[in-house]
Amino acid sequence: MKVDTLKAVVTGGASGMGREFTLSLAREGADVVFCDLNEEAMAAVEAEAKDFTGSVTGVRANVASEADVVALFDKATELMGGVNCLINNAGIFRDNLLVKKDRNTGEIKTMPLADWDAVIAVDLTGPFLCTREMASRIAADSSGPGVVINISSIARHGNRGQTNYSAAKAGLIADTRLWGVELARFGIRVAAIAPGFVNTPILQGMPPQVLEKLLKAVPLNRAAETAEVYQAAKFIIECDYFTGRCIDLDGGLSL
Ligand code: NAD
Repeated sequence: MKVDTLKAVVTGGASGMGREFTLSLAREGADVVFCDLNEEAMAAVEAEAKDFTGSVTGVRANVASEADVVALFDKATELMGGVNCLINNAGIFRDNLLVKKDRNTGEIKTMPLADWDAVIAVDLTGPFLCTREMASRIAADSSGPGVVINISSIARHGNRGQTNYSAAKAGLIADTRLWGVELARFGIRVAAIAPGFVNTPILQGMPPQVLEKLLKAVPLNRAAETAEVYQAAKFIIECDYFTGRCIDLDGGLSL
């Protein structure tokens, strides 16, 4: 598929990688509807894109809410005449060990169920709802081709302190594989990107000495730029023979 033929929905488009996907796609001629919860940041993204070739519209929607996601796809279909590209990018984390014992007091602390539920809802249920809404509309009117890009994480391999996040990001890869198979009959390709560290507000908020230590473990010795993640997304969009697979974009960290 060519970028300038896209009618794309990007989730979590007001910050970090989602902002990059939204702006870069529209700069290259795609029409984009992005969703987020941060309305101030959404307005800033819309303003930045006002002279771009493609259109950019922000819609407030929580990807974990079925009603919000259905309304988001109704609105996107109305604005763009359909949706043929979806980037499941919105994600949160609530890190904690599953069980922790205080060295001095012996007190046991566990990961709260609310932290498990919150991460699964946004990082796994969100992509399920969005992909279902996009694919069912394409199936109904045979309007393929389409492409879905799931943003997973290197944590998909299992990362200490991320019981909830690792489960969601690994589940997303399992679904990438099976949606790649299930949705091929409707002309929809599904692929994933699993980044290591990416230079977004999450990383920028870390104490410099902590960040330096983390990045030392990366063979390429730095975090990815969001533009490099967009490059991987563009490959998935443009290569019509790529489906069901995950691009590990981690500077060699998982090797
Ligand atoms: P970010 O926090 O900068 O942006 C995420 C955006 O999603 C925010 O604007 C936020 O408001 C929005 N959002 C959160 N919950 C939402 C919800 N329920 N509904 C709609 N929007 C919601 O994050 P980022 O660093 O750009 O990460 C983007 C994706 O990449 C996430 O899925 C994250 O897990 C993944 N990831 C990030 C890194 C990294 O190093 N930054 C590494 C691997 C994977």
